[in-house]
Amino acid sequence: MQRRELIRLAAATAAATTLPRWAWSDPLTQRELFPLGVASGAPTPDGFVLWTRLLDGPVPGTVPADTPRTPLPSALTVGWEVAEDEGFQNIVCSGQAQALAALGHAVHVEVAGLQPDHWYFYRFMHGDSVTQVARTRTAPAPGTLPSRLRFAFVSCQRWEQGHYAGYRHMLDEELDLVLFLGDYIYEYAMPKTPPSYTLARTHTLVAAKTLGDYRDRYALYRTDAQLQAAHRACPWLVSWDDHEVQDDYAGLGGTGSAFPARRAAAYQAFYENMPLRATALTQGLAGLGTQDGVRIHDRHAWGQLLRFHMLDTRQFRDRQACRVPGQAAPGTVTPQGCAELLDPARSILGADQEAWVEQGLAQDAASGVRWTALAQQTIFSRRNYQPLPAESYHSSTWDGYPACRQRLLDAVGDAAPRNTVFLGGDIHQNYVCKVLADFANPQSPVIASEFCGTSIASASSVAQTRAQEIADNNPHILLARSDRRGYAVAEVTPQQWTTTLRVLDDVIQPGSGISTLASFVVQDGVPGPQPV
Ligand code: FE
Ligand code: CA
Repeated sequence: MQRRELIRLAAATAAATTLPRWAWSDPLTQRELFPLGVASGAPTPDGFVLWTRLLDGPVPGTVPADTPRTPLPSALTVGWEVAEDEGFQNIVCSGQAQALAALGHAVHVEVAGLQPDHWYFYRFMHGDSVTQVARTRTAPAPGTLPSRLRFAFVSCQRWEQGHYAGYRHMLDEELDLVLFLGDYIYEYAMPKTPPSYTLARTHTLVAAKTLGDYRDRYALYRTDAQLQAAHRACPWLVSWDDHEVQDDYAGLGGTGSAFPARRAAAYQAFYENMPLRATALTQGLAGLGTQDGVRIHDRHAWGQLLRFHMLDTRQFRDRQACRVPGQAAPGTVTPQGCAELLDPARSILGADQEAWVEQGLAQDAASGVRWTALAQQTIFSRRNYQPLPAESYHSSTWDGYPACRQRLLDAVGDAAPRNTVFLGGDIHQNYVCKVLADFANPQSPVIASEFCGTSIASASSVAQTRAQEIADNNPHILLARSDRRGYAVAEVTPQQWTTTLRVLDDVIQPGSGISTLASFVVQDGVPGPQPV
């Protein structure tokens, strides 16, 4: 299918409409068509996106890879309802949407015209199949100052490395939102030899390369009951990192043949499987950079309390410093051994997105929004792996793009929004940092706070003794923990931001308990996290 045709279909099917009766598909009956659950996302003051995806037959990854499949029809009509109450006595809007084979039988409905700062219930149905009832909410009205926002931020859920007990515990956190910061899927086949980590579970999928492969990977992950429950509890804001496509890819550069086509397939599958607006596709194609892009960098306001700037540090980044094209990225680089590291032309965001972030920081300063949250994929603060004067840095985090990081730091310093907090993931470790105006100058002022969350399931290969050594080498790092999996909760009020790091007893156990590793607070007007 032509990409433009696909985008036209996505925009048409996401419109919240009532189809005339003659346009409905013949219903399939006596089938379980919703094994992948539901989700909602991208809340605005008057609406949100509702998502589901239909699947018939055995779940990919749970049966041998060559098991024959019964394809669904090319178009199916799916009903949806939004109600004030869990029993759907008071339905506020409803309609039908088309689930098309061309979009993986995914359904996106962009609902509008609802009350601000309000919870709703929703469900989908087809034939005699009905989804479980789920909750979602709208954002507060512009100009209002909500007294509280509670959200979790989470990343990195490699299927075979852990169970998703963290998501069950999130149900007890009274969350308004979940922020997903990347590595929703991992593209790998199962390891051929026994791995260094404990296997939590297995799957039968091949390494993902085609659109069908990526669709299957999302289908498998989305069958997890604890993950589904977290999607049913509140809206999610989603971004991606590398493993939604390929480990350590950078822009249009990866390993193996036909990488741009592989990336385009992976991006389409991401759109299909996430509660994103259709503008993610249309604006992607409009040419914010590169071939067949999907636009995931976006802003989401919570009244005057907080604005999220969701960045995309993968799609537009330059190749890692001293990475040979077509080969894997170097793990670490040094300024002495790799002059390219310091090249000011290199960017992790791309020039257009850098300008877009700068513009957003200026808007936040002008509007007086209380908290500016720069939500992105990986650790932002410097981690020099050596004691000074020696230096070595990870090539794929912001440390691999130091000039670009300094431009963003200068933009935060110049625009000076009221409070700036960086959120990240990717490294499978909890890091809490004071963000300095210039990491090369330890005496420079603290201008922001950083909370980089650990993985909810993916293993870390870094020993805790090593994480602590790195923290000792970098005094702006207040906490570095590689040994625990989990998620973080942010409770944001006009007066303070509190981040609580929640960690699982044992990620291999689906019923694992949870505990608090540490809490940090940022006071309004006082940049930098303080331990509670
Ligand atoms: Fe990861
Ligand atoms: Ca990653």
